[in-house]
Amino acid sequence: AGLQFSPCLSYAPPESSEAPPAFAPMELRALLDGHHLRERDWAYGAMEESPLFCPRRAGGKVFVSPDYNEGKEGQREATMRRIGYLTRRGVFRGWLTEPGPDAELRKLALLECLGVYDHSLAIKVGVHFFLWGGAVKFLGTKRHHDKWLLDTENYVIKGCFAMTELGHGSNVRGIETVATYDSKTGEFVINTPCESAQKYWIGGAANHATHTIVFAQLHINGRNEGVHAFIAQIRDQDENVLPNIHIADCGHKIGLNGVDNGRIWFNNIRVPRENLLNLVADVLPDGKYVSMIDNPDQRFAAFLSPLTLGRVNIAVNAVYISKVCSVAFPFR
Ligand SMILES: Cc1cc2nc3c(=O)[nH]c(=O)nc-3n(C[C@H](O)[C@H](O)[C@H](O)COP(=O)(O)OP(=O)(O)OC[C@H]3O[C@@H](n4cnc5c(N)ncnc54)[C@H](O)[C@@H]3O)c2cc1C
Repeated sequence: AGLQFSPCLSYAPPESSEAPPAFAPMELRALLDGHHLRERDWAYGAMEESPLFCPRRAGGKVFVSPDYNEGKEGQREATMRRIGYLTRRGVFRGWLTEPGPDAELRKLALLECLGVYDHSLAIKVGVHFFLWGGAVKFLGTKRHHDKWLLDTENYVIKGCFAMTELGHGSNVRGIETVATYDSKTGEFVINTPCESAQKYWIGGAANHATHTIVFAQLHINGRNEGVHAFIAQIRDQDENVLPNIHIADCGHKIGLNGVDNGRIWFNNIRVPRENLLNLVADVLPDGKYVSMIDNPDQRFAAFLSPLTLGRVNIAVNAVYISKVCSVAFPFR
């Protein structure tokens, strides 16, 4: 007596017992999604078709969900395998190399589909394409585009974005990592001078990233020219960490455990002069610093503005708590 039958135990989809809605669901869907409906359905279909997305059939629908009971490492590897599959299916084709508003909107639509499935998947893809790829594209110039964008799109390399430090989150201007130009070899020497300068929270750094954007104070001829961004390799293609780079794991998080956030220390690693992302300033082979913007404040603002949106997204997504139930993709 007193015990009630749990409605959860007899769940049936509402549409199997309720009258159809008085409006046309597909019209509502078109309104909510707004654009690229066909491409979205194609991406949902690609996920439903692969066992990597754990599809289950019930009541004429396909339910998909990552296994959130899996350990941290299992979730990270599953995210990476899903990305490999989506790459082979062509989901990321054109994301960095195809110009124009239609390509931009298509990319955002497809990213949204990945987020409907799992935030870890969308964030891991977002760090690679929007933070690493975005930095190469918007802070770099032709020499960087030619060398890195297609390989990024095809996941030949895996990128991360090392801006935040243990002691410097919002205060990017105060970061302590140093890049010193060596005109004898034509290289930048990148160093973590103290513990508060360790790069922290870097998505992709703990397990998979082969390359990173490093934000550092640029020192030339004893003068600090302020924060600049450099490309550095941190792992080889077999995912071994390169010499003079130390990486540690940020560990479990409340959610997003499918993303491998890590900490990075640089011990005087050397990168070629060409790896400076030189949209607003460059260093000539003899060590002369050149910029079309003289005022360091304006230079810093011009330099960071294309990336602001990406950082806001990181912060917003960091507070998401994992979903614990399966989803059936909308209107499929
Ligand atoms: C899961 C996760 C993934 C991340 N991934 C990356 C990554 O891939 N790459 C990367 O570079 N970084 C990454 N970050 C770091 C992220 O960009 C920083 O956490 C963010 O910039 C905020 O810095 P902070 O955590 O040091 O907070 P703080 O800067 O210390 O801020 C703490 C609080 O103080 C407030 N505050 C700060 N300054 C001011 C001010 N001047 N006036 C008023 N209020 C202020 C802030 O709004 C906030 O509420 C990640 C973080 C998380 C949690």
